[in-house]
Amino acid sequence: MKIDWDRRTCARKGHATYAPDDPRLRIRLHAQTALGDVWRCLRCGDFVLGEPRGSGPAADAPLVPRGKVLRDLFVLRFLAVERAVRGVFIVLVAAAVWKFSNSQDAVRRLFDEYLDVFRPVFRHFHYDLDHSPVVGSVQKAFGYKHSTLLLVAALLLAYALVEIIEAVGLWYAKRWAEYLTVVATAAFLPLEIYELTEHISWLKITTLVLNILAVLYIALTKRLFGLRGGRRKFDEERHSASLMEVEESAGVTV
Ligand SMILES: [Zn+2]
Repeated sequence: MKIDWDRRTCARKGHATYAPDDPRLRIRLHAQTALGDVWRCLRCGDFVLGEPRGSGPAADAPLVPRGKVLRDLFVLRFLAVERAVRGVFIVLVAAAVWKFSNSQDAVRRLFDEYLDVFRPVFRHFHYDLDHSPVVGSVQKAFGYKHSTLLLVAALLLAYALVEIIEAVGLWYAKRWAEYLTVVATAAFLPLEIYELTEHISWLKITTLVLNILAVLYIALTKRLFGLRGGRRKFDEERHSASLMEVEESAGVTV
């Protein structure tokens, strides 16, 4: 399925028309019809009836992301949202761990009371709660030291912060955020793979696959670490994708 990101964006945001001062360029972007003046959209290339959105020197024309650049922007925003959701979720977990660390004894008493209530019920169904792995791991958590729990909460919070910083940076397509995402995500891949050797779940597999794809996608399309020509090539590509620049170079050769 081929999605026309240019037309979709124009449908949502309206066309990006611009009237450059330079008459040689103006003539290429402008036409007169029986219905009135039409201006060429810098994003989708359609001629649009009505006044241009902006005007001035060609150099001040907005750099309208289009084509591949625009598609990359959509993918980055999807990753940004995914990271923001994960970040907020981890903050909640960190808060829960922190709360638990402060009321460990109270929660343990409550848990033991519930255990006493439910023990005969479960025994009726031939299930021994005292040897249940779930109850076992909860009781193990009660044994953790206050300082250990605080450390866990702090580490979770730090991780969540990185995710949220990534999310904000990716949303605005910042190059530092792309580097941060690739480095931080790649750093956690060995841990995610190790986790899978312990216990396999669909959520873990999906997260792992998504993270590997994200690392490859960002590193390759954004030409990070000098890949595929690096920064210079990336800027060149972005500029050549701008219709205004295409028109400009065409105008010079005429
Ligand atoms: Zn348009």
